[in-house]
Amino acid sequence: MDTAGMDVDSVLHPFTDLARHHGSGPLVIERGRGIHVYDEQGREYIEGIAGLWSTSLGFGVEELAQTAAEEMRRLGSYHLADGKSHPKVVRLAAKLLEVAPAPFSKVFFTGSGSEANDTQIKLLWHYNNLRGRRKKKKIISRANSYHGSTLAAASLTGLGSFHHGFDLPLPFAKQTTCPSRFHNAEPGESDEEFTTRLARNLEELILTEGPETIAGFIAEPVIGSGGIIPPPDGYFEKVQEVLRRHDVRLIDDEVITGFGRLGAYWGAQVYGMEPQTLSCSKALSSGYMPIAAVLLDEELSSVLVTKRRNLGPFGHGFTFGGHPTAAAVALKVLELMEERDVVGHVRGVAPSFLKRIEELSAHPLVGDARGVGLIGGLHLVADKRGRKPLPLNSGVAVHCAEAAQRHGLIVRALGDVIALAPPLIIEEDEIGELFARLERALDDTYHWARGKDIVGSAGEG
Ligand code: PLP
Repeated sequence: MDTAGMDVDSVLHPFTDLARHHGSGPLVIERGRGIHVYDEQGREYIEGIAGLWSTSLGFGVEELAQTAAEEMRRLGSYHLADGKSHPKVVRLAAKLLEVAPAPFSKVFFTGSGSEANDTQIKLLWHYNNLRGRRKKKKIISRANSYHGSTLAAASLTGLGSFHHGFDLPLPFAKQTTCPSRFHNAEPGESDEEFTTRLARNLEELILTEGPETIAGFIAEPVIGSGGIIPPPDGYFEKVQEVLRRHDVRLIDDEVITGFGRLGAYWGAQVYGMEPQTLSCSKALSSGYMPIAAVLLDEELSSVLVTKRRNLGPFGHGFTFGGHPTAAAVALKVLELMEERDVVGHVRGVAPSFLKRIEELSAHPLVGDARGVGLIGGLHLVADKRGRKPLPLNSGVAVHCAEAAQRHGLIVRALGDVIALAPPLIIEEDEIGELFARLERALDDTYHWARGKDIVGSAGEG
């Protein structure tokens, strides 16, 4: 049997329409180089989403393969339990603290972004228990946010498909308004008015629940999987005023935005965020190894260290958190980022990328085009003049992603949004080719959707 047939028979896929997959089968990607990946038949694709927002340095980076092989030969596997350590993880922790966007004191390693955010929740609960604040346990996130799919992280994720049918969210998770102008701004409302209203909604939620019950607020600098939603100007400034007033800690989820994606090393630096803790993963190893990290401020770290005397071993951790091969690869990634000035490169090419995104707002299917740095989203609509949304489960964005694939471009359909986040090493001419392929896919999709009467001629304009 071929690989595709074996896949359908044996693999249960995440974030996939399972019934549909049984019929259509997988796209089997076999190798990659630069911004391109190749399927089993040798067909080439631009990886327009960097393999789930991860492969920042592109595919086939020889230095990373060599680093992994050397570390595997040297040590192979080890852990951090029972006070054990190894050189690569120590150097990586020190490097992360050096480049961090706030004065953090300690790093806790996990294998994934979801584990990192579950760790955030547990550490915050533990911290408040150690401080005798037993009621201060609830955590607020935003509608449309994505923080992972484990039980606790999924509870903070603000997307219905991660809750319905899974008996979630857990009761500690509370939700406030998504800062999307497209979804939530009133006609004519300025950024100033909109952000004031968003901050007021947040404060009302805190006051209704009782500030003594609210421990944290978690936010992605730019909402990623929830549809590429950059915040309006001044948003985090206003939100942070509210958080400070009620002693609520800010958890910065940089799983997508960390390591250059927005044209700065961290998203927090773009939006003036002053987080007490931070989660990062994905581009930390350019996606080459599963690794994530939680960065903690001195307040939380010191309470954990000093107030746990005589309480025995710290009851939290993962066998593979800070795995030596993953840590070695991550260190090498951070070194290559500096050597190749990846953040400077993103700043250089982002204007062309964003200009092409902006130009697509004229396309009859696109109701809103948004982006920052090298992340962008096209919000597809049924009628662009009336900003009429597509009917529920219309399949238009999925059709567009499939059309893009036929034209040699991998993008993601997130609800009605087509998401782009190419490897950060993408060059100007490659950006041109990416958008040429995307335009063909949008045109195909528009004709298909018109044929099915999903979008009307009113879409043109
Ligand atoms: N947080 C954010 C912002 C993410 O985008 C993701 C994954 O896409 C996660 C957390 C979860 O990371 P993982 O899939 O590694 O568990």
